[in-house]
Amino acid sequence: MEKFKCMATCASGIEALVGKEVRNLGIECNVENGRAIFFGTMKEIAKLNIWLRTADRIKIILAEFEAKTFEDLFDNVKEIEWENYLPLDANFPVSGKSIKSKLFSVSDCQAITKKAIVERLKEFYHRYGRLPESGAKFPIEVAIRKDKVMITMDTTGDSLFKRGYRIDKGGAPLKENLAASLVLLTNWNKTKPFADLTCGSGTIPIEAALYGLNIAPGLYRSFLCEKWPWVDEKIFKEERKEAKSQIDTETQLDIIGTDIDHRMIEIAIENMKNAGLEGQINFKQMRLQDFKTTKEDGVIICNPPYGERLSDEKNVEHLYHDMGETFAPLTTWSKYILTSNLKFEEFYGSKATKKRKLYNGALRTDYFQYWGRKN
Ligand code: SAH
Repeated sequence: MEKFKCMATCASGIEALVGKEVRNLGIECNVENGRAIFFGTMKEIAKLNIWLRTADRIKIILAEFEAKTFEDLFDNVKEIEWENYLPLDANFPVSGKSIKSKLFSVSDCQAITKKAIVERLKEFYHRYGRLPESGAKFPIEVAIRKDKVMITMDTTGDSLFKRGYRIDKGGAPLKENLAASLVLLTNWNKTKPFADLTCGSGTIPIEAALYGLNIAPGLYRSFLCEKWPWVDEKIFKEERKEAKSQIDTETQLDIIGTDIDHRMIEIAIENMKNAGLEGQINFKQMRLQDFKTTKEDGVIICNPPYGERLSDEKNVEHLYHDMGETFAPLTTWSKYILTSNLKFEEFYGSKATKKRKLYNGALRTDYFQYWGRKN
């Protein structure tokens, strides 16, 4: 099988986690800003699409070159052996981006890339009229940074954060891959108690349960490249079979998800069932302030309201204060809170052991970490 240079793309700040996941799956990689670079065949591409919890997409890098003129761009794109990837009826939209480069007009770069591919294919397939573009989809991207061009082809389709289990999301859902990142940044493992006390639609507890039971997050969805005519369907079939055999069917997890809003709990329960996790997470309506436990060494992850609107500021101030009081007796527990509120520690009443910058979509947030007992 042909080996490709590939990248697993992700939000800025998450790349080290993606790199760790890729290596844990037995694949060497190098981490750069917003991506992990690796070499692999369609087998590795299938494996990573199915298994990566924290990445956005897996893309094949078809070419990298320098271009300062449209001729450079056209000639280099035309040199790529497109006929090896795109069948005569391929549907190949071209997207683009350009940062700090001579070729700054993204729409022109897209049009020129498209034209070069079309010309190459027409020559190869001996076509004179338009190409039909009625077949499988091959999303191409021309990305230019400081005059260095990267031509990539997306294998994933809908972003990897779309696991397929979410029926409803409520008001302020986290992306599933950010929720998984929050879990992987803690010291939680399947033997410890876990609680999300502002769980909303349940994304964090669900991602924790998938991780705890070693369930591949992409097991029940499909990927764009499965429809490519030259990709043997056996590859994905085998990777899915292998992933299924790795599910931990013995462990009973100790995970709770609670929220003040009972409608969110109903949604969370539906989402849990849809993820095949019935019986593994205890979702119930409760105020965070009422949380008590005699268990030890647990992990709390909360994604509370941030109080972005001025009118909410006071409520959030009280909530963070109450959070500090409720969590204080849980000395053996580790607590992790994600918020964009810069005054969080002040309201909570103590300084975090560690803070980590993370992006929740375009919003800059901090992950405040209060470590419990070492174990
Ligand atoms: N991570 C969630 C979104 C959480 S939004 C998801 O992916 O869907 C914040 C949640 O905090 C809201 O659902 C809100 O109902 C809840 N909340 C606000 N105040 C609370 C309180 N005092 N106790 C428990 N939950 C509260």
